[in-house]
Amino acid sequence: MAKIFCIANQKGGVGKTTTTVNLAAGLAQIGQRVLVVDLDPQGNATMGSGIDKRKLETTVYDVLLESATIAEAKSHAEKAGYDVLGANRELAGAEVELVELERREARLKGALAAASADYDFILIDCPPSLSMLTLNGLCSAHGVIVPMQCEYFALEGLTDLVNTIKQIHANLNPDLQIIGLLRVMFDPRITLQQQVSDQLKAHFGDKVFDTVIPRNVRLAEAPSYGLPGVVFDPASKGAQAFVEFAREMVRRIETMR
Ligand code: ADP
Ligand code: MG
Repeated sequence: MAKIFCIANQKGGVGKTTTTVNLAAGLAQIGQRVLVVDLDPQGNATMGSGIDKRKLETTVYDVLLESATIAEAKSHAEKAGYDVLGANRELAGAEVELVELERREARLKGALAAASADYDFILIDCPPSLSMLTLNGLCSAHGVIVPMQCEYFALEGLTDLVNTIKQIHANLNPDLQIIGLLRVMFDPRITLQQQVSDQLKAHFGDKVFDTVIPRNVRLAEAPSYGLPGVVFDPASKGAQAFVEFAREMVRRIETMR
């Protein structure tokens, strides 16, 4: 059965999608079977995996409304090396439509249960909010990976997310835990980033991943080629860091079992 992880942070532009597609590609490279679920109506994880969101006939939207299974709605991202349950703008409507429905926060969980045996890892790219879509992600997952930039307000934003995760753990999904905080877009030459990084480790200890993702322009360029950076430029510092992170995740789930 797959281990299911949400990549979440309610702030936009912090590296969620970059983390999702590059961790997926890194895991695929070391032989893991991976499904990426795009839960953001912007569809960046879909496009960044080389799947054209405008051409999709079935997406995660159909899965949430139970008009398609994951097996029917998924695409295979050939070059990236993993499967994608894609999203496009249609998904923005699901937010409103789900409110009317039974088990509205558990729709994705039900669908993933049926696909779980086909994968080792399922990675869910969440939108930048604590919405019904994110709630579906968090109710489905064994754990949350939180990418964050080591900036002054980073710790403040974390409090809301940690509280939300605690509530979901208590009321809806007893499996849910923070797997770890991933320092991304890191520049060791910036003293403040080093200081915030040290504070994070002091506060969260083992919950801070060992791997640090550097700021690296190749990671930012890759999406315009429809590729994760790990595939676009395997020799780049950013790609190497994400393959290392994939190895760290494999080690972490060994200790979770
Ligand atoms: P989110 O999904 O949280 O909104 P993204 O993953 O889309 O964030 O990242 C926001 C922007 O930062 C994108 O333009 C992305 O290419 C860039 N980016 C993300 N991680 C890195 C990195 N390690 N180095 C350089 N640019 C990055
Ligand atoms: Mg994103």
